[in-house]
Amino acid sequence: MDTPAQPPEPWQWPEDQWRRIVACVRAGRSLRPRTWKDGARCAVALSFDSDHETNELRDGGKSIGRLSWGQYGNRVGVPRILKVLERHGVAASFYVPAVTALLYPDEQRAIVAQGHEIGIHGWIHELNSALPAAAERELMLRSAEVLEKTTGLRPLGMRTPSWDFSPHTLEIARDMGLAYDSSLFADEDCYELLLDGEPTGMVELPVEWVRDDAVYFWMNRFASQRPYTPPADVFDIFRRELDAAYEEGGLFQLTMHPHVIGYRSRIWILEEIIRHARAKPGVWFATHAQIVSWAKAHAA
Ligand SMILES: [Zn+2]
Repeated sequence: MDTPAQPPEPWQWPEDQWRRIVACVRAGRSLRPRTWKDGARCAVALSFDSDHETNELRDGGKSIGRLSWGQYGNRVGVPRILKVLERHGVAASFYVPAVTALLYPDEQRAIVAQGHEIGIHGWIHELNSALPAAAERELMLRSAEVLEKTTGLRPLGMRTPSWDFSPHTLEIARDMGLAYDSSLFADEDCYELLLDGEPTGMVELPVEWVRDDAVYFWMNRFASQRPYTPPADVFDIFRRELDAAYEEGGLFQLTMHPHVIGYRSRIWILEEIIRHARAKPGVWFATHAQIVSWAKAHAA
């Protein structure tokens, strides 16, 4: 009797197979501009992922305690963040799952009224990279619709909940006419996204786990996950990223979460980062959409 054929191990793959996998979504030309708006030396892109209750819901969780932690993001986190941004006259981007927007439409309207951007962040913070293609497309379209209906503005960009793509994500985003994504890691400056080697016209404004508050502060009571970096050290990491971006004339991008950074013992990190950047001459604070639009039009 024949033994069933085993799929080849990765070390047995022919060259065209691993080349095809790598080529699916790639960084194309760099979109680093010679200077930023008004001759600025450095661009600062602050972002907040308003996951709120969806961190619990997306795994099918019903913990009332963890849901209340999400509600803190709406009741305390976002208002506290908006106050800091308003005090310093800084524009930022908020990535909002559709379920968050449906739970808290007034929060989204307040964000937009203050001049900030709202971008797509999935439906219920689903693991988008594991979805069947049709479900992923349907959820992305529905999420954009909910955000547009809530705020009156069509979202220009997205941040995938997984910080990952399925093989279909980029094609769906391009078909939707989105200007940019902000979930991938191939650079520290904006770049053009290639799909199977072809330019898509879409821009990537890259993120990085080292510039994400959740990595340092997240806590799961029933798993071994605990905050392991003191707030002062997190500030130090963010500040070094900012200082180096300034030296290089590049882009400093930061991701925070209202139910992570919003606490009394942490919100100062956001304020100090803004003060630190403001103390330098030639720093442009802008939304991700503004930065992408500038980078695309003025790439060196
Ligand atoms: Zn998120």
